[in-house]
Amino acid sequence: MKTVADLHMHTNHSDGTLNPTELARLAKAQGVDAVALTDHDTVTGIEELVEETNRLGLEAIPGVELSAKFFPGTLHILGYGFDTKGPIREKLVEFQKAREERNPKILERLKELGMPMTLEEVRDISNAHGQIGRPHIAEALAAKGYVKSYEEAFNSYLTKGASAYVPKANWSAQECIELIHESGGVAVVAHPVQMKLQGLELRKKVSELAEIGLDGLEVVHPDHNSEVQELFNGLAGEFGLLTTGGSDFHGDHKPGIQLGQGRPPYVFLEKLRERIKQNRKK
Ligand code: AMP
Ligand code: ZN
Ligand code: FE
Ligand code: FE
Repeated sequence: MKTVADLHMHTNHSDGTLNPTELARLAKAQGVDAVALTDHDTVTGIEELVEETNRLGLEAIPGVELSAKFFPGTLHILGYGFDTKGPIREKLVEFQKAREERNPKILERLKELGMPMTLEEVRDISNAHGQIGRPHIAEALAAKGYVKSYEEAFNSYLTKGASAYVPKANWSAQECIELIHESGGVAVVAHPVQMKLQGLELRKKVSELAEIGLDGLEVVHPDHNSEVQELFNGLAGEFGLLTTGGSDFHGDHKPGIQLGQGRPPYVFLEKLRERIKQNRKK
């Protein structure tokens, strides 16, 4: 019987450190029955992942993680079950361009702060194979001895609002959700606790997102303790949203996180598939 579906993880096609084949093998070893690879702004790792999950007898569903414009915290939107060759493919190029424009700006800020590095150095040090993001820059800052640790790089320079932070998201939540729907997928807010909203403000935001077509909330996530899980379970029930879960595994970029962490129940994936079918009928 299938019991665990980890629906949130990254490879070296974005800011994870394993390649898709290694990720699939680790999922098998961790007793995960189904996976969704949700790299930031890219679907290029999915083909290799599926080849290996098929070989291993694991289930896989296409995924992606997009960042929407948001304040005060961050709003990441997971897309699932879309056609990887649909409109999303072209549109993701725009998301990738935003990264290409942003990375040199971050490096320029760091240079002004007395920490010069080139993008090539960042790529080499972090062994990046795809989309470059702040985790790669954090790793390079630590490797070059500018900071003592990866965490210090984020806390002192790269986290939202810090001195070398440059925003990336140019797309509204509605645009992200519509893009996922146009490609036949469903849209889920990742780690909703990171929106940094509480009480009435939080309810209002979830209600607004449901109104513009959001399909679900990620309830099981390493950033959510049981109280937070209960909160988002309640909100999901109230606004007719699905619940999902994932480890947000990044390999060595988040060393404390194991693949399959939180053991997200397989039933989440079954409900997700039902919703994908329903949406397509509309
Ligand atoms: P980016 O897409 O380039 O903005 O990078 C976002 C990724 O950076 C997130 O998905 C996390 O993996 C990581 N990240 C964001 N904030 C922090 C933080 N304060 N400490 C460590 N990692 C972080
Ligand atoms: Zn990430
Ligand atoms: Fe995220
Ligand atoms: Fe993630």
